[in-house]
Amino acid sequence: MAALKGKWCTETYRDTALSFRIKKKLYAKKSGFQMVEVYETEKHGNLMALDGCYMVSEAEEFVYHDMLAHVPLFAHPNPRNVLVIGGGDGGTVREVMRHKGVTNIDFVEIDPDVYEVSKRYFPALVKGLEADKRVKFKFGDGIKFVKAARSEYDVILIDGTDPSEIAGGLFGAEFFKDVHRALKPDGIMCMQSEDPWYDLDIIKGVQTRLKKIFKKAGLYLAYIPIYPSGMWSFSIASKRYAPSETRNKKSKIKKFRYYTPALHKAAFELPQFVKDGIK
Ligand code: SAM
Repeated sequence: MAALKGKWCTETYRDTALSFRIKKKLYAKKSGFQMVEVYETEKHGNLMALDGCYMVSEAEEFVYHDMLAHVPLFAHPNPRNVLVIGGGDGGTVREVMRHKGVTNIDFVEIDPDVYEVSKRYFPALVKGLEADKRVKFKFGDGIKFVKAARSEYDVILIDGTDPSEIAGGLFGAEFFKDVHRALKPDGIMCMQSEDPWYDLDIIKGVQTRLKKIFKKAGLYLAYIPIYPSGMWSFSIASKRYAPSETRNKKSKIKKFRYYTPALHKAAFELPQFVKDGIK
């Protein structure tokens, strides 16, 4: 086995380790919420880690942000008021902004340092956010924020970290009930819901809770090289529309780098072990 000569960064997760060759470490500082690190990698651009977990890289960020934002925004016929919880790197809000029918984007990230670090090292992710009057920066805990909302949002996107002390509540029934109440009668929520290889139990719990609270719930996958197994899941729940169908005829977005209307539907086709694991 080749020894890791030269400079590398490594994330250890359960019984695996995932390393990338780096040029240098650009940033490392504990914020009020977590350890924030940024590496300049050889092949993946700048790479951010929070509390030692890889979050986003310049090379692959389009996969996660396309699939978290565009599946719910095309499943809804006319999304206008959108809430993004988490997503401090800016990539999800950037993709929501591309839907010109959207009139308001409440951006609720708990850790302002993540956004500031992204401005410095991930300029493509925050491009246009501060110039777009629709984007309302509301730094704070999304779990608390959503409790005060009543039937306001067409789409709520939850772009949180792994279930930890600050993000653990984003995976719970109480939060899902608050999200349900914050959504309009035909609203849709969507969240990143962890790795089917290593965390199928977490995904099963999320799906079980969502199915008890929402009329429809589904799971879809995408493939992200900087995450431990590369396979990643998104859990989507809807008060009315089938999330695997595209309905939004207003958003005339010509080009994506990962999302396609065909992939929107196909992404809900799950491998048998995932289907069995979330039953
Ligand atoms: N968007 C990234 C990607 O491409 O995979 C990863 C996720 S993003 C960096 C996760 C964000 O969720 C972090 O900035 C973290 O501070 C934020 N977060 C965690 N718990 C939160 C909470 N309760 N309310 C708001 N933001 C939260």
